[in-house]
Amino acid sequence: MQRNDGRGLDEIRPLNFELNVAPHASGSVLVSMGNTRVICAVTIEEAVPRWMKEQGVTGGWLTAEYSMLPYSTQPRKPRDIAKGRIDGRSVEIQRLIGRSLRAVVDLEKLGPRTIWADCDVLQADGGTRTAAITGASLALAIACRKFVREKKLDSPPMQKLVAAVSAGILDGQAIVDLNYDEDKLVSVDFNLVATEDGEFVEVQSSGEEATFAGSQLDEMLALGRKGIGALIGAQRAVLARIMVTPPES
Ligand code: UDP
Repeated sequence: MQRNDGRGLDEIRPLNFELNVAPHASGSVLVSMGNTRVICAVTIEEAVPRWMKEQGVTGGWLTAEYSMLPYSTQPRKPRDIAKGRIDGRSVEIQRLIGRSLRAVVDLEKLGPRTIWADCDVLQADGGTRTAAITGASLALAIACRKFVREKKLDSPPMQKLVAAVSAGILDGQAIVDLNYDEDKLVSVDFNLVATEDGEFVEVQSSGEEATFAGSQLDEMLALGRKGIGALIGAQRAVLARIMVTPPES
């Protein structure tokens, strides 16, 4: 099978991380996976949500917000604020991003603080939720280093890197990192979130007016794990580079 952009079945789209795109954030990354581009910015607040105080929960919290900028899609997508209600899809995605990042953060170590991970889609071409997780993970790692450098925290609360990728079944074949034209055609939609030590945070797989076999699930999982390996390798390369020259210096 030939993919519409000539990629191999197991090949992720060209990946790029542009750092410090939002200098007021503690860590910010513009992640590009092909034509999908998401701004991920991490900030820390010296407070915890009210429910934590009320329930006597110790430690800190991490929360994420996701939105698509109006000009990220064709046709233009009105802002939620203009419609007066938040899109159900955005709620689902921001909860996924929050869960993915909390899985790799030691909230006790964070202390009574809230980390905000804001993900805004600049250009959408499929896989915006997975790109948001991969970009926010890197932004969080950068922010944690900064918190320690600025003595806001004694040690980084982030335990390991996390990344995410989509996969699907197109014409009976498993493919990884779908662009929008592929996303429209697949009979199975799959999203994988995993850490740098190969542990899973989330495995989502759903048939779209179709069912799928266990062997197809295994194939998507294998492609997803391989893709995540490449994404984490790229995140690590960025972190190794900025050990030498921090992005904000
Ligand atoms: N999309 C869009 N407008 C919307 C929602 C989605 O144009 O309101 C497009 C966009 O390219 C997105 C793709 O559909 O990336 C797939 O959307 P999905 O809900 O599967 O989420 P994603 O793959 O972006 O995580």
